[in-house]
Amino acid sequence: MKKYRITLIPGDGTGPELVEIVKKVLSYTGVNIEWEEVEAGESAIEKYGTPLPQSVLDSIKRNKVALKGPITTPIGSGFRSVNVALRQELNLYACVRPCKIYPGVKTRYENVDLVVIRENTEDLYAGVEFKPFSDEAKYIIEKSNGKIFPDAAISIKPISTTATKRIAEFAFKYAIKNNRKKITAITKANIMKYTDGLFFEVCREVAKNYPQIEYEEKLIDNMCMQLVQKPEIYDVLLLPNLYGDIVSDLCAGLIGGLGVAPGANFGDEYALFEAVHGSAPKYKGLSKVNPTALLLSAKIMLGYLGEKEAALKLENAIAEVIKEGKVVTYDLGGEAKNYEMAEEIIKKLVMS
Ligand code: NAD
Repeated sequence: MKKYRITLIPGDGTGPELVEIVKKVLSYTGVNIEWEEVEAGESAIEKYGTPLPQSVLDSIKRNKVALKGPITTPIGSGFRSVNVALRQELNLYACVRPCKIYPGVKTRYENVDLVVIRENTEDLYAGVEFKPFSDEAKYIIEKSNGKIFPDAAISIKPISTTATKRIAEFAFKYAIKNNRKKITAITKANIMKYTDGLFFEVCREVAKNYPQIEYEEKLIDNMCMQLVQKPEIYDVLLLPNLYGDIVSDLCAGLIGGLGVAPGANFGDEYALFEAVHGSAPKYKGLSKVNPTALLLSAKIMLGYLGEKEAALKLENAIAEVIKEGKVVTYDLGGEAKNYEMAEEIIKKLVMS
């Protein structure tokens, strides 16, 4: 039987408990996985003096595939996001977040089956920022012809043809492979004419090579309203980094919350699978948070490895438990601990 060696990053907050659950559930899928566990985030700082030790990157580069629990990022000060650094260091330029309603999930909507494809490496996430009164900030303010207050901090928003072409090609290929019909590119190009304007321009050019996929463009503000009013008319959403981050949480809200929203990051060489949600630190150690999001991320990973049957079995087992609604976590209207929900999923897997 084929054996996979996969890097496993437990992460912070509720991450380690969710990762333990995923390890256990996956051991019942029949796929032979040897996990290489490495530490990143808060626990790594204590041990290695950095939240992202080189050994983590080396492990992913060796194994090519990683599964990650959420990692806490301090707001405003402290270390920069490990999640962002991982995506940049490994050139994981495409973030894919499927948002689909599973019967049994309590949500205001009935018929949502969207995929958010987010550019992962540039935009305001590039990490090019200048403090107030720094030489760089002063230089830019001087060039702004009085449009910026002299005491401003500055974040740079780069959008390139290279990165946009790469993500657009990815999105169209994804749509074809996954039998999707329409791609909606989303920006604020009426205001950011050069950056967001370029994003649309490049996507439009790429779209010409894929006439079998319908292509349209929407402005982000209008799109937020449309997603709340009629999400069922959308299919694949293609966005630059920051809008993609925000819209994927919005879409998670449409399908029942962060507890059921999976994600994956792809580059040409490596793939990293993680839930959309963060470390939910207030629930740490309570076994309360829903394991579905990370389990569905692991399901995407199984598909990526070519283990399509096991991926389907896992998804069906999760879907059945959610549909029955008896042993589910608080966010799905139940009272079960997350390990109890996992046991129920394992029962279905064993029976299938
Ligand atoms: P969060 O996603 O951790 O939690 C927000 C709320 O969503 C929680 O309080 C909870 O009510 C709900 N929630 C989250 N996960 C859930 C689950 N599995 N089941 C049920 N409910 C769930 O967002 P936050 O509080 O803004 O961020 C906490 C930390 O996580 C921050 O440091 C942030 O930077 C980090 N973060 C990391 C990632 C990542 O690792 N990729 C992603 C987002 C946020």
